[in-house]
Amino acid sequence: MFSKTLKDSLDIVEVASRYLLDLKSAGRTYKSNCPFHEERTPSFVIFPDTQTWRCFGACVEGGDVISFVMKIEKIDFQQAIKLLADSAGIEVPRYNNVEENVELYNINESAYNFFHNYLLSENGLAARNYMINNRGVDKDTITKFGLGLSPNDNRQLPRHLENLGFSNKQISESGLVFIREDGIPKDIFAGRLVFPIIDSRKKVLGFGGRSLNDNGPKYINSSKTKIFDKSSSLYGINLAKEGITNSGKVVLVEGYMDVLTAHQFGYDNVVACMGTALTESQVRYISVLSKQCVLALDSDTAGNEATFRSIENSWKAFERVLVGKKNNISLYKTSNKIDLRIAQFNSGKDPDEIIRTDKDLWENNIDNSKPLLAYLIENAPLRWNIISNQGKQLATENIAPLILSLDNDYDREYYYNLFANTLNVDINVVKSAVISANRKNTNDVKNFNQKVNYGTIESKDNSYLLEEHMLSMIVKWPHLFSLAENADISWFSIWENRQVFDILLKYNGSQESIIEDEVNISQDVLSRMEDLRKIDLPSMTKSNKEKAVKQCVLKLQERYLRGIKKEEANVWLNKSELNDVSSQDLSHLKEKAIIVNDMLSDVFNKSTKKNSDN
Ligand SMILES: [Zn+2]
Repeated sequence: MFSKTLKDSLDIVEVASRYLLDLKSAGRTYKSNCPFHEERTPSFVIFPDTQTWRCFGACVEGGDVISFVMKIEKIDFQQAIKLLADSAGIEVPRYNNVEENVELYNINESAYNFFHNYLLSENGLAARNYMINNRGVDKDTITKFGLGLSPNDNRQLPRHLENLGFSNKQISESGLVFIREDGIPKDIFAGRLVFPIIDSRKKVLGFGGRSLNDNGPKYINSSKTKIFDKSSSLYGINLAKEGITNSGKVVLVEGYMDVLTAHQFGYDNVVACMGTALTESQVRYISVLSKQCVLALDSDTAGNEATFRSIENSWKAFERVLVGKKNNISLYKTSNKIDLRIAQFNSGKDPDEIIRTDKDLWENNIDNSKPLLAYLIENAPLRWNIISNQGKQLATENIAPLILSLDNDYDREYYYNLFANTLNVDINVVKSAVISANRKNTNDVKNFNQKVNYGTIESKDNSYLLEEHMLSMIVKWPHLFSLAENADISWFSIWENRQVFDILLKYNGSQESIIEDEVNISQDVLSRMEDLRKIDLPSMTKSNKEKAVKQCVLKLQERYLRGIKKEEANVWLNKSELNDVSSQDLSHLKEKAIIVNDMLSDVFNKSTKKNSDN
């Protein structure tokens, strides 16, 4: 199997030494200054025995070779696999394969040149003047973003592509044309200003087109193709990656013009999500790039119920990522969370206009953006009639899960207070209302029956069976996926399983979406999922199925935490052998040991609580 071959061919010490020039052998382990935080004495440790790494310093993170590469390259799991496979000279089986879609990328590249040259030609003069004089976009920005223009004649682009040797089939699958009864492909962007949508690898994925007259919708996009999906792309990311890294934050806007203007005025960490709601895959990508994300909303969308809902969903998407992070990368550190904020402009202007007319206002609002939860709470009176008790109740039911998902007591207290002030109610009343609103949601989960036989997983400490059992349950019972979605991919020790879980997370556990998007998923993963589907599970009632999934999640987490304990013990052992224990290291280690113990006891309490509930 591909992932096994890859895993066997990699050595974490070798891979890490490509990045860490000061990596030194220290007894049974290797040490270096941590690449993820500033430090003078090395607290970054690699364990060749277990092929894992851990920072025992400020970032207290750890993982295996994949998570190391993900973090240091700022890429996602699938990209890390691809990169490692390439460096090991192993061919990736049908894996988001650039080569496989090479014709699509080529056709987009050709269209990009065609549109861009047309805008810069004599024919593009009026459109250029419009951009420069009416929209204030300068020539450099036009070039930098590769803006284009499509001719009014909707046959020109397809003919151009035909002349370049692309087949009719390729042209019709490009997402750039429509085909009516006569069977002749026609340019969907005809007469429009064109914004190429380019990914961080500088590949042209698709286009957005703005109408220059009042014909048709104001904006349209390339249709969905194997390489382009509006909901998983971020406009401007090709030019913003560095700005995001330097500033430590992503600023998200709604439109193409907002991004152009922001970059033109020097705000190079701005991207657009091409729709008001952030999607799960955008969130995942952003969370890899940065720990802070500011949503700068258009004035006409801020305050809409639809916007509030989409913001709530973004929060949930972020929360999912950060729960994962909590148990993986930023294991015990709350400050490593993604900080999602809202910049609210009350001037009735869009970011494009604000940046042009009042840079101070823009900067102030970005710098003083509100934490998302504060924004939702303060705007509660716009959404519910909080004068009435019924309105208060509705507001509480919506806000409760958000407050309770905070894992810092002081944060929770702060938001209880804010919520109480907003509702104009005593804080203790709000606290008990939040808790009972939440209980209402989770009541079904309560009756845990210890006597159910969960198959083979209970007795044996068998990694393979535990992981396989867990995955087969969520593959066969996709409606229970939500119970497992907070598990982290690093809890799976077997790579094939981890890949499967990663895909399930990406597609929200939906088998339909996975099958629909088959072409973009590794053959390896698909056949593994097929095997999982074939596994016989003991027959269970609905509620016992739920319990079984939950219990498996806890067991995986427990196993993962125990692994960390083992690493800690190794470091202790090694340190005393080497006699190089600094008091600072010691206190760090102690601190971490206590936190891991706490988390373990938390897992223990959760599982025994459920067991005794019946
Ligand atoms: Zn570190």
